[in-house]
Amino acid sequence: MSLRERTEELLVGRVTFPLTSYLLNRRGVITRFNELTRSERYAPEQLRELQLKRLRRLIAFAYERVPFYTERFRSIGLLPGDIRSLDDLRKVPPLGRQDVIDRHHAMVDSTLGNACDLADRSSRGPGEPIPFAPFRQHQLVRNTSSGSTGAPTVFYENGSRTALNWVHEFRLKSWFGNMPGAREARMVRLSNEYLPKSRVLRLRNRLWNQLIIPGVNLTDRDYAVCVEKLAQFRPKTLWGFTSALAGLADYLRRNSIDPAPWGIGLVVGWAAPVYDHERRLLTEVFRCPVSNIYGAREVGHVAGQCPAGAYHINAEHLLVERDDDAEASAGGGREAGEILVTTLDVSPMPFIRYRMGDIGAIAPSNCGCGRTLPVLQEFVGRTGEIFRASDGRMISPNFWCRTFMNVRLAGAIRRFQVIYVNDHAMRIKIVKNGSYTAATEQVLADHLKRNFPQDMEVAFEYVPEIPPQISGKYQMVVNEMEHAGNHR
Ligand SMILES: [Zn+2]
Repeated sequence: MSLRERTEELLVGRVTFPLTSYLLNRRGVITRFNELTRSERYAPEQLRELQLKRLRRLIAFAYERVPFYTERFRSIGLLPGDIRSLDDLRKVPPLGRQDVIDRHHAMVDSTLGNACDLADRSSRGPGEPIPFAPFRQHQLVRNTSSGSTGAPTVFYENGSRTALNWVHEFRLKSWFGNMPGAREARMVRLSNEYLPKSRVLRLRNRLWNQLIIPGVNLTDRDYAVCVEKLAQFRPKTLWGFTSALAGLADYLRRNSIDPAPWGIGLVVGWAAPVYDHERRLLTEVFRCPVSNIYGAREVGHVAGQCPAGAYHINAEHLLVERDDDAEASAGGGREAGEILVTTLDVSPMPFIRYRMGDIGAIAPSNCGCGRTLPVLQEFVGRTGEIFRASDGRMISPNFWCRTFMNVRLAGAIRRFQVIYVNDHAMRIKIVKNGSYTAATEQVLADHLKRNFPQDMEVAFEYVPEIPPQISGKYQMVVNEMEHAGNHR
């Protein structure tokens, strides 16, 4: 790295990024980052002690100031002092997405008065920060999360949640040797058409060392623009929705463009899992480590994948549990269940035991990287993505990954989507590659015949394109039965 680059990185990482973040009410990013680089190696009991201290503070705050929780805790006869161990949190019923949709105003700190109404009436876009917020009376920002079923969840924050996201991103990147201020490119939830050519982006470029490029609805012409910008900017980290990253990698491969001279040292997918077939494509094209962040907009970044491949939970700020509910546990292995997340920091809208809609398990770390943060395991997909066949078999999204990584199919199919129509019918949408033939379809049909009950009807549908959802996520499995109300 040249002296100029090093100076620029230090200036951005230590001065301009923290300072501008402060002015957007995203405070303490560097202090907290420094704390996290120590706590990630705490002994497990020391970490649990920290969590308990924060949990007790949170429960007392929620009981006192958040009407939704005051009501909820009273209904089960729980007083803040009853939380003496992390396990005591199990007395609180899980928080569903529908609770948030119905009661989002009651879930906000009541001492903030009409701040929600003001945020609702604001002309700012979802999640858009308020400049100079620390000096203003009202600091709430309204944001939305689209979710896989399309019903938007409204939530509010004052910048503290975004600050924690930045801190967790700093930590994740540091695991791969990229320090705060290092150049990064981010493929975002905006198409080229809507990407504002504004001052904000120029400022992000100059003050944060961030290049913002479009990440949805990308055509080959958009990819060409991305490639030109990336070659010029030379980011050390490349962020994106998995679908955008995979699309870019595919474009590079089709056009025999080698990204090595750009100097990318880390690719991070977020907002969706990086499935095995996508990881393989990204690793082959970018020839650098590929990481993934698990989380949701409402609660922030929950876990990040370390160089050894484990999903370490950001346990200092998020308490992650597995729901013991038998029905929810039915998707995965013996230890798997629905993931519940509690935001441990005191923020205007706390989430306590929030149902993430994902099936997984939590284990203590015995990771080769040496970090002691607990690990998320057995991710078998979202609750709605797991198909229960009429004979009781469970088909997880990973089955489809393995299927389409099959050597006889991998090169012939550009993209696919599985749609479960009902108990005995599914459609498979396929975007063909040049080498797809009738024989390919036969290979696939035979494979499915062996893995599904005999009464399963499979229809193949050939399409020119499979668009991502509005959120930018590309949905591999669609469960139409879920929308019919078969599922929670
Ligand atoms: Zn690790």
